[in-house]
Amino acid sequence: MVPRVVYGRGSFDDLAEILSPRRRAEDAPFVFLVDSVFGASPLSARIPLQYADRIIFVDTTFEPKTEQVDVLRDEIREAHALRLSGIVGIGGGSTLDLAKAVALMLTHAGSSADYQGWDLIRNKGVYHVGIPTLSGTGAEVSRTAVLTGPTKKLGLNSDFTLFDQVVLDPELTANAPADQRFYTGMDCYIHCIESLTGTYLNAFSQSYGEQALALCREIFLHRSNWDPDSDEKLMMASWHGGMSIAYAQVGVAHAMSYGLSYVLGIKHGLGNCIAFDQLEEFYPQGVHAFKEMVQQHAIRIPQNVTAALSDAEFDAMIDVSLGLTPLWENALGKDWRQIATPEKLRRLYERM
Ligand code: NAD
Ligand code: ZN
Repeated sequence: MVPRVVYGRGSFDDLAEILSPRRRAEDAPFVFLVDSVFGASPLSARIPLQYADRIIFVDTTFEPKTEQVDVLRDEIREAHALRLSGIVGIGGGSTLDLAKAVALMLTHAGSSADYQGWDLIRNKGVYHVGIPTLSGTGAEVSRTAVLTGPTKKLGLNSDFTLFDQVVLDPELTANAPADQRFYTGMDCYIHCIESLTGTYLNAFSQSYGEQALALCREIFLHRSNWDPDSDEKLMMASWHGGMSIAYAQVGVAHAMSYGLSYVLGIKHGLGNCIAFDQLEEFYPQGVHAFKEMVQQHAIRIPQNVTAALSDAEFDAMIDVSLGLTPLWENALGKDWRQIATPEKLRRLYERM
């Protein structure tokens, strides 16, 4: 679990106080990895830079890549060697994952692609702090940093991946674009549905999952407007949803969304929505409510995104998806391969 968390409107302004005991020396800076959407924003101006601290703006047009992590790590290492107090990630799931991965790779040799998998990271990274500006992925609480590498999209999953400190300030999510907020919010909703209906479910995951699901339904199903209370509740839903999958797993929508992302570059939240929209046979109630939420918030879910794909591209997408054994096993049980055949996935992908 994340050992330290601060929550509250305006808690971003406590950052200087939070970081100061962790400063190793005046010449050991904090490096702030900040989503470039905040390039010239009031938020960047509020980052409490001291001594040699610096901001690196990161582009999140695409989901984080292993190469991007390696380049950032090399740049930071060259500038500061290991005289660094920590990495602070400020942004949505993409930036939070980048911050986690860079912090880990600063204490590991080679490429981050060598560590995509489970428990391949063996040492502590540098001190790292996560500050979400978009709610839903649960990246602020999870033990993974999801990266797209040369051969796969897979996280650096380890006990060392978790942030040392998280600052949850719901004010930071207030100005996110409505459609993006919906797609990322649905990531949380889908985490809950997949966790709560999965075969890996246990009391730990259920207790967090039910709470997160109730919050998502309150925000997206029973309201059509967005207000500060929605920001607060979705931030906590994201946290609980992330905790729910920590001891369980996601399922079919995530497995298929990874394929969409790998071949078509579709981002996680949107890919989940495109996939989930077609998965009524696996999650009848969850998909029914999802469609209501889409209508309620007047969101467009793209259709026919796979229409122009070649057979080879479909095969690549199916391979990526079927490679995610724990997700399928959680969703469909030990004999999942009899249900989730390549032919079945092809038919489902063709409908997306
Ligand atoms: P994101 O971080 O990719 O951001 C989406 C867009 O929203 C970007 O253009 C960004 O600039 C913009 N944005 C973010 N905050 C904003 C704000 N406050 N105002 C205006 N614009 C803002 O989106 P996301 O859905 O949060 O994250 C997706 C990523 O998270 C994927 O790479 C996915 O693999 C990863 N993920 C990780 C985990 C995990 O446990 N580590 C779980 C789920 C998803
Ligand atoms: Zn997700």
